[in-house]
Amino acid sequence: MSEASKIAKLLFKVKKSPVGGRGAFAAKPIRKGTRVIEYEGDRKKWSSYDDDESDNYVFLFDVGKDTVIDPFSNGNEARFINHSCAPNCEAVTEDGRIYIEAVRDIKPGEELFYDYGIKLGRRPTKADRERYACNCNSRKCRGTMLCLPESMLARKKRAKTKSRAKKQSSRC
Ligand SMILES: [Zn+2]
Repeated sequence: MSEASKIAKLLFKVKKSPVGGRGAFAAKPIRKGTRVIEYEGDRKKWSSYDDDESDNYVFLFDVGKDTVIDPFSNGNEARFINHSCAPNCEAVTEDGRIYIEAVRDIKPGEELFYDYGIKLGRRPTKADRERYACNCNSRKCRGTMLCLPESMLARKKRAKTKSRAKKQSSRC
């Protein structure tokens, strides 16, 4: 077991989440900048996944060079951390490994989130956005777990300004 996993056992508990499925909840106060857990799993080639309709697809962590970390294969509890567009954690890449770190102080009992910022390698369609719909309910919610290109965000921003809706400032 890596050091990151041992720390994680102490930092959060996995239980049912109001967002859906299970989530990771702080077991003790977590200070901003704390490395919460490493995103573990076997490294595989994107090309080995021909079925992108699988629900597990969303959990494959893209680390570049046609490689993903598959948490369902020798993975750890990091996969229980849900997505939010206004998260309290972020995914940090270091030497090709992925760590989830707190971006602010987190109180015990708070659910941990990071922005999945999923990239499809093509312009997301409406169907893509619906498939990866986000219900985080944050004011910054962009409605999807996908990383949206600047052009799409800009268009959304203009449309929202016209209707005097809240300013869309998030990306991923
Ligand atoms: Zn959201």
